[in-house]
Amino acid sequence: MTEGYIKFNCSWEQKDILIPEELYETLEKERTRLYELGLIGVYPDGIGFGNISVRVGEDASFIISGSATGQYRQLKQSHYALVSRFSLAENSISYSGQIKASSESLTHAAVYDALPEVGAVVHIHCLWLWRILLKICPSTPAEIEYGTPEMALAIQKLASGIKPEDENIIVMSGHREGILAFGSNLHEATTQIINIYNRYKHD
Ligand SMILES: [Zn+2]
Repeated sequence: MTEGYIKFNCSWEQKDILIPEELYETLEKERTRLYELGLIGVYPDGIGFGNISVRVGEDASFIISGSATGQYRQLKQSHYALVSRFSLAENSISYSGQIKASSESLTHAAVYDALPEVGAVVHIHCLWLWRILLKICPSTPAEIEYGTPEMALAIQKLASGIKPEDENIIVMSGHREGILAFGSNLHEATTQIINIYNRYKHD
């Protein structure tokens, strides 16, 4: 990544957000499945990776795990942010919460924007799986870096081309280890990536 590059323009309203208890429990349950496999976690240098989001309401607003939360096995409600508006063209998001939204929020937004039937998106890191899936899944061009408007637009384009019967997976070539999975709900999105992880883990 280019140093000093402004990943996205955000308007952040720092305040408590209300996540319905049942939804919060589902977020945590599904996130823990990914955390236990190391698909969400932290690198030795302390940089966290992986995030999870769920669409709320009729529009494309969504709740997403906050920046730098990969290290935690369990998140509090205050570790989540609510993205209420976004523009892929302007590379901008508006969100509220007590934590910064993930810098990969716009990538999630691109999937929600392209596919109205998608209710949840997970972004995970896994080097060996990324190498395998690069050869078999739709992937963004290698020169496009994560967090850029180009990445969001590339994701939007790829997501639009995915049919319901396809596996709901997109690989981010220019974002080493980065994989996106999505589904109509959190369980489906998480299961999507865990199934594929299990299928290839002994290869
Ligand atoms: Zn990532």
